Amino acid sequence: MKTLNVAVIGAGPAGIYASDILSKSKLDVSIDLFERLPAPYGLVRYGVAPDHPRIKAIIDALYNTLKRGDIHFYGNINIGSDVTLDELREYYDAIIIATGADADADLNIPGVDLPESYGAADFVSWYDGHPDYPRTWPLQAKEIAVFGVGNVALDVARVLAKHAEDMMVTEIPDNVAEGLKNNPVTDVHVFGRRGPAQVKFTPMELRELGHVPDVDIIVYPEDFDYDVASEKAIEDSKMTKQVVDQLTNWVFQEPEELTASRRIHIHMLQQPVEILGDEHVEGVRMERMALQGDGSVKGTGEMIDYPVQAVYRAIGYASSPIDGAPFDGKKKVVPNVAGRVMRGEEIITGLYATGWIKRGPVGLIGSTKSDARETIDCIVEDAEAGLLAAKGSGNGFEGLRVLLDERSTRYTTWQGWELLEAFEKELGAQRGRTRVKVVERETMTAVSRGEDHDGKLY
Ligand code: NAP
Repeated sequence: MKTLNVAVIGAGPAGIYASDILSKSKLDVSIDLFERLPAPYGLVRYGVAPDHPRIKAIIDALYNTLKRGDIHFYGNINIGSDVTLDELREYYDAIIIATGADADADLNIPGVDLPESYGAADFVSWYDGHPDYPRTWPLQAKEIAVFGVGNVALDVARVLAKHAEDMMVTEIPDNVAEGLKNNPVTDVHVFGRRGPAQVKFTPMELRELGHVPDVDIIVYPEDFDYDVASEKAIEDSKMTKQVVDQLTNWVFQEPEELTASRRIHIHMLQQPVEILGDEHVEGVRMERMALQGDGSVKGTGEMIDYPVQAVYRAIGYASSPIDGAPFDGKKKVVPNVAGRVMRGEEIITGLYATGWIKRGPVGLIGSTKSDARETIDCIVEDAEAGLLAAKGSGNGFEGLRVLLDERSTRYTTWQGWELLEAFEKELGAQRGRTRVKVVERETMTAVSRGEDHDGKLY
């Protein structure tokens, strides 16, 4: 059998894990990993909060995988615009889509389009220095509502409430550091629509919230209710019990313990029904919800208004379509069976999906591994059945490079990423930090390609 040329689209954890598992399979493969940004790591670089250094261990593992050299990283290539998916199929025997989820899930309530109603994914992209997002963020609200009680809501609430000086030890870019300094926030209200046993925070992340300097966590006794499903969830899951215990501990704080200048309030059993205000956000209207026995909730008709001047919607991420690939606009995934991409009832031979674009934006980074394994099993099976062949030359990057050069695409490589890393670490050293991220795509690209640049960082 000839060497199988495989293209993986997206160099986040999903794409890197899939590449790694494929490289260790029994197939003779050559793997090219394409990324639209000049830097690898996807949501690990552009989604994880900068004050979560624990994630460093994941970066190290991903780095070591790519450093081996048998998976070839090519950055700053947008599959869809620089090269179409059809063109890619000329050169590659199989293609894996691993583009993750970069947008916010929709929330259809009145007022959602007011200017200070923000998607959490956009805010995260700003504080993580994503090159395709605005360089400034309007931090003008004293009181803020965050919808959703998952880990993204926690990250957003924490970054909003934290004092700027406590973020300075991280790798946040200079424009973000500047932006956070002028944040006038005093109160961040986080809202979950179900009960304490249905909150999606993980225990470690929730506990950590209690250690943020000069920020008090406030939880209200009237928000505690448990139905049969809640009792069972607490009994069955150690993590659920730990989360509920932590929330309960905060209810029993003595008033004299609450001395901080900023507060995060965690409210439960309240669903957003309207964002109030004519031209600007002036408040949120929440409906009190009641548990139904199975962990689901129903509205009680009781409305509670909170004055806030900004709203962050952290109700889940959503994937964006890839030009040329089928997309389920409702579930926001590429339709697939076990990773084999489907158009209607038909399998598209040679096209696969893995990660959040395959199964939706749920699960921690680790769960992406088992998902990738399932997709790679399909590729191995299809290759062994003799089903995989490119539509053209099938000579992988050798052929594609000619097309990219004809189009003057300024792609970057793994060696380029090593150059950019060294550059960012040097910037960090100048400021007494481990690293400072470069935001400006042109500078990222030029540094990676060893070209002259004007040193513009954001
Ligand atoms: P998530 O965990 O699915 O949480 C989404 C939250 O939004 C849930 O509380 C959900 O409530 C709520 N929600 C959904 N639709 C809503 C609506 N219409 N109105 C009100 N609330 C609504 O999603 P996520 O926070 O985006 O996180 C995605 C994944 O990344 C998770 O697996 C998370 O653990 C992971 N992550 C991990 C970290 C970390 O530090 N370890 C950081 C960030 C993200 P219901 O439960 O009622 O649907």
